[in-house]
Amino acid sequence: MVDFSLTEELQDLQRRAQEFAAREIIPIAAEYDRRGEVPMHVVERAFEAGFLNLTVPRELGGGGCSALASAIVTEELAYGCAGITTTIMANGLALTPLLLFATPEQLERFVRPFCQKPQLAAFCLTERQAGSDAGAIQTTAIPDGDSYVINGVKCFITNGAVASLYTVFALTDPERGPRGASALIVPADTPGISITKVEDKMGQRASNTAEITFKDVRVPKENLLSKEGRGLQVALKTLDYARAGVGALATGVARRA
Ligand SMILES: Cc1cc2nc3c(=O)[nH]c(=O)nc-3n(C[C@H](O)[C@H](O)[C@H](O)COP(=O)(O)OP(=O)(O)OC[C@H]3O[C@@H](n4cnc5c(N)ncnc54)[C@H](O)[C@@H]3O)c2cc1C
Repeated sequence: MVDFSLTEELQDLQRRAQEFAAREIIPIAAEYDRRGEVPMHVVERAFEAGFLNLTVPRELGGGGCSALASAIVTEELAYGCAGITTTIMANGLALTPLLLFATPEQLERFVRPFCQKPQLAAFCLTERQAGSDAGAIQTTAIPDGDSYVINGVKCFITNGAVASLYTVFALTDPERGPRGASALIVPADTPGISITKVEDKMGQRASNTAEITFKDVRVPKENLLSKEGRGLQVALKTLDYARAGVGALATGVARRA
């Protein structure tokens, strides 16, 4: 018979996540939800507790945890607040393309800093005309010498206005449509990036959901993830990993209802 009981290690992690939700999240959740604000001090405490970079390998300074461990933590934190948990989860979503496809140099340069001090990342795929149909993205990243020059608008991006790093999906070869899409690592302070809207949502209000405009944003070619033309593959593989987390989050919310 299949045994679904958790190992002692996972039970301990679950207990720690429950205690974290009770101590750090539940007392302040309603207030931040009303204000529509991310409680950055809770993000910092989640970092200290090891919940922010759970699935980052230990050799990069992360928790080295499995997808199951991550789902357990997500469910327990979501029992406290869906918005705050979305903030934490979206960080994992944005780092997953790097964990799956980055070179050792890219991991050192872009992922290790996330395990050294609290900061957030954002996954930038959706556009007004490209939600479920991710292949309809129109943002371009045109090769120019040693760089790509990004132009376009991404919407509904979790952590958009509070992240220090973006994973951006854009067409490096617009003539090829979705087959010309590529994934790029873009530091949020790169010139030409602006936050053009922050959504005033009905729910998950303690997470930040923003529109990001890229105007002649230049990133070096070494920031390409995987290969040119593989962007949608990178995005869809990442979403395969993220889906279980969304289910776990919904389970946590349902348990609290
Ligand atoms: C709180 C929040 C946070 C988000 N965070 C991020 C983020 O961090 N990064 C990011 O890139 N995006 C993010 N998104 C965007 C999210 O991925 C999109 O909302 C999602 O892909 C759906 O796209 P859409 O909203 O344009 O809806 P649409 O694609 O327009 O869909 C509208 C409705 O039509 C249905 N539908 C669509 N196509 C079909 C079809 N072919 N057949 C039948 N039914 C169909 C859908 O199921 C849905 O019910 C976020 C969205 C929200 C609400």
